[in-house]
Amino acid sequence: MAILNSTTNGTAPHPAELDASKLIVTKAELKPIPPLESLVFGETKTDHMLVINYAPGTGWSAPEIKPYGPLSLDPMSSCFQYCPNVFEGMKAYIGPNGEPRLFRPKDNMERLARSAARVALPPFDPKELLVLIKELIKIESRWIPKLPGYSLYIRPTIIGTRPALGVAASDSACIYVIVTPAGPYFRDATKGISLLAVGESVRSWPGGTGGHKLGLNYAPGFLPQRIASKQGYDQVLWLLGEEERVTEVGAMNFFLVVKREDGDVDLITPPLDGTILPGLTRASTLALAEAHSAGKITLPGVPASVKLHTHERPLTMREIDALSTEGRVLEVFGVGTAVVVAPVSRIGWAGKDIVLPVQKQGLGPIGSGMWKMIVDIQTGKVPFEDWSVVCD
Ligand SMILES: *Cc1c(COP(=O)(O)O)cnc(C)c1O
Repeated sequence: MAILNSTTNGTAPHPAELDASKLIVTKAELKPIPPLESLVFGETKTDHMLVINYAPGTGWSAPEIKPYGPLSLDPMSSCFQYCPNVFEGMKAYIGPNGEPRLFRPKDNMERLARSAARVALPPFDPKELLVLIKELIKIESRWIPKLPGYSLYIRPTIIGTRPALGVAASDSACIYVIVTPAGPYFRDATKGISLLAVGESVRSWPGGTGGHKLGLNYAPGFLPQRIASKQGYDQVLWLLGEEERVTEVGAMNFFLVVKREDGDVDLITPPLDGTILPGLTRASTLALAEAHSAGKITLPGVPASVKLHTHERPLTMREIDALSTEGRVLEVFGVGTAVVVAPVSRIGWAGKDIVLPVQKQGLGPIGSGMWKMIVDIQTGKVPFEDWSVVCD
């Protein structure tokens, strides 16, 4: 139909690009904001959402910010069948002058574009989507909690909406962005989280899709997660290969802090070999460790004389076990947008528990220094490069 139209009456020979200047805003009736103590991650629905549709021939529709509500989709839509679905996780914070801020949002947009390309969804201009997300955040800014540790979680999503069962790339898509107020992710982070090392089912594999934020990467992890919970562990530590290389912690990147003979510390995380999600918090942790070591910043609570040597290299369970036995493991933590930094207290592996040092506050000195630095940058208290972006 669309092809016939474009050739017979001369309309839309080129599909329209995503264009933020075409935004249409329909204001919703505002909801009461629930008390912050009652927040459960990802459950509160706010007033508005952003929606943009792509159709072959016409391209991207005029973006709409409109009242939050259900989407209406053809039951044949490819998102329900073959899962060409991708997403992002980012947050908005309130800055010192009450201004809404985002953290490294360009990187989220570029990762979203890469994820979309990986499942052959129609391309979009990441810069235009960021302009639209800033508009949504300004409209929803009363939902950004002002308490420390709280933020407004943002979930940009793209789903394939091709209304046909043929096994093929989706030539139609819907971008939607929803937001939800969020408190500290693990309410009882003081004890640290426990991990069950799992190698018989894997989250990602060489040549697979684990390096992209695709919806299809997550459902296969739910059953191993349930098994870990039944055995009394909070999260799965995903292993890969016969050498039992550590990849990720649940949906967080993995960091190991090791004591060195010279008084410095090694900060080790697995390399981005395609099996690891390239987390922004991971990249930020590495960059801040390097900035501390170069004397450009001082991580709160970490002496300037202590250098953090970063290593992106494979790590096996046997190595972690040996380092732990030698008493050289200072900290293990997971990092990601939702948690920022989460301390790990023990790892169940090979029929035993590797017990890790967990300090009073849960996080050790490196983890807590990193947590404080990242949160201070996110909330605009401490400037660092162009990481914190005001929604204006
Ligand atoms: C989103 C995600 C992360 C963390 O990425 P951030 O950009 O730091 O939020 C890590 N691992 C997986 C599997 C993820 O989905």
